[in-house]
Amino acid sequence: MEEVGTGLLDRLDAMQRVAASAPGGPLLIVAGPGTGKTRTLTHRIAYLCAELNVFPEHCLAITFTRRAAEELRHRLDGLLGPVAEDVTVGTFHALGLTILRENADAAGLPAGFRIADDAERAAARTEAGDDSAAYTSLLRKQDLVDLDELVTLPVELLRADRTLVERYRDRWRWIFVDEYQDVDEVQYELLRLLSPADGNLCAIGDPDQAIYSFRGADVGYFLRFSEDFTDARLVRLNRNYRSSAPILAAAVQAIAPSSLVRGRRLDPARLDPEVPLVGRYPAASVAEEADFVVRTVDDLVGGLSHRSLDSGRIDGRSTSLSFSDIAVLYRTDAQAAPIVDALTRANIPVQKRSHDRLRDRPGVAAIARELRHAGGLAGPLAARVRLAGQVVAERFAVPTLDGASSAVRPEDVRSAVDLLTPLARRCGDDLEAFLSQLATGAEVDALDPRAEAVTLLTLHAAKGLEFPVVFLVGVEDGLLPLRWPGSTPDEDAVAEERRLFFVGLTRAQDRLYVSHAARRTRHGSERDCTPSPFLGAIDPGLFERFGEAEPRRPRDRQLRLI
Ligand code: ATP
Ligand code: MG
Repeated sequence: MEEVGTGLLDRLDAMQRVAASAPGGPLLIVAGPGTGKTRTLTHRIAYLCAELNVFPEHCLAITFTRRAAEELRHRLDGLLGPVAEDVTVGTFHALGLTILRENADAAGLPAGFRIADDAERAAARTEAGDDSAAYTSLLRKQDLVDLDELVTLPVELLRADRTLVERYRDRWRWIFVDEYQDVDEVQYELLRLLSPADGNLCAIGDPDQAIYSFRGADVGYFLRFSEDFTDARLVRLNRNYRSSAPILAAAVQAIAPSSLVRGRRLDPARLDPEVPLVGRYPAASVAEEADFVVRTVDDLVGGLSHRSLDSGRIDGRSTSLSFSDIAVLYRTDAQAAPIVDALTRANIPVQKRSHDRLRDRPGVAAIARELRHAGGLAGPLAARVRLAGQVVAERFAVPTLDGASSAVRPEDVRSAVDLLTPLARRCGDDLEAFLSQLATGAEVDALDPRAEAVTLLTLHAAKGLEFPVVFLVGVEDGLLPLRWPGSTPDEDAVAEERRLFFVGLTRAQDRLYVSHAARRTRHGSERDCTPSPFLGAIDPGLFERFGEAEPRRPRDRQLRLI
């Protein structure tokens, strides 16, 4: 456990400290990328508990992804020690599930209700056709709820029962919401029910990073916080600890035409001398763009580790760059393939972040069912997952009449066991927690931050992350902003695309490269492309333009190290 009290706030800058130690009541923290939102939020909770005698069990911290919830929990453990366990930390779905479990009867659900998996949902949908009441009652007959209902049902429940509202308000007297710019209507309503208008609600986020309107998020709730909550206090965090000055300047200029933050400012905390400008590479083709990425990665990792033998420093900074320091970001998943191919051909290891849900992977549903049926078994879940995998594999190994094994394949089952093991380990022996995380969308944990590999991510998946070196590829009109051929983008859609561009640029710490190809195949036909209009907002003086493709050099890492 770290030192608490004043020592604890010493690790924050002046404005972070103001935010962390603000008195109770509604508090909105408007904080740009890299300004330390998670650090501020966790220190605020720790400060309130350690200094102002707030009970950890009165605190509820809500995030949008399970990954973010785990990160928050981990940091709180570090700051508060064992009492951090008493803070409720979770996603909106997890919060809704808790409320429903505690009030299953009132919600008209049996005590043992479960969340429908994809197969169960699909079956109910087929049977119910267009009739959405029929759909729900089919699920109910099987003691199932739909994932979306994890938030809508608690809202209905609380709306109808003021006593229940008061009970929860008494239990969670301090509420913290991360990434508040991403709340949707139902989540917002749940928050309003849980927090009185003058309650201790602390919302933190950045309207300029609102990128989820396509799934119902509405940045409007962020913008009208002070109308919704009485005498709301506003704190702005503008000091960016992540990016070099040129990267930050480019990002601020890029967002300016659509910024939702009055007087958007990001002041670089890092004032390293002689930092590189933003690299810009106009490629003739997608292949040439991929080649540029390969060559540059090769130079940065191979070249720098070579040079570091002499000096250990370049550009005034440590040169210990490795593949894990590098990310390639793109707008659409389809852009990954040529980059992955080119890196792989050059023997550069890659890992692709997956947003796939675990429960959608073949074999996972069968294992989950097996676990549920064998629910009474005790012992660590990881071992039980292995056992269930064996049972499922044996069942499917029974040959069918034509000699082939049945449809859900043994190798699928093996890989499903591998995919489920990290989640099972995290859940210890709590089968309920394991199954509900699976049902509420636990993702395939393919990304290992320590893996010695270049990371490939969509811009959406890159949110919240940071890398010393970032390539932003395909910065072309039609991809950024994304547009279907023949369609006219509306103003709001373009603004959201610009925010996505801003999210991408601000992932970079030391080196940022943007590239665009002059020709690209999209929707089945190759066409001419022009650079993204978003680049026009950036001062050309911030770019270092790289020329045409240079001849490839030998890329045998073993040889080059001699
Ligand atoms: P994003 O909007 O991109 O999610 P964020 O506001 O959540 O950004 P963080 O990831 O929390 O930013 O912080 C960015 C980096 O700055 C991290 O490496 C963090 O450790 C560092 N940082 C934050 N505050 C400070 C501080 N007061 N002193 C030193 N480093 C800091
Ligand atoms: Mg963050």
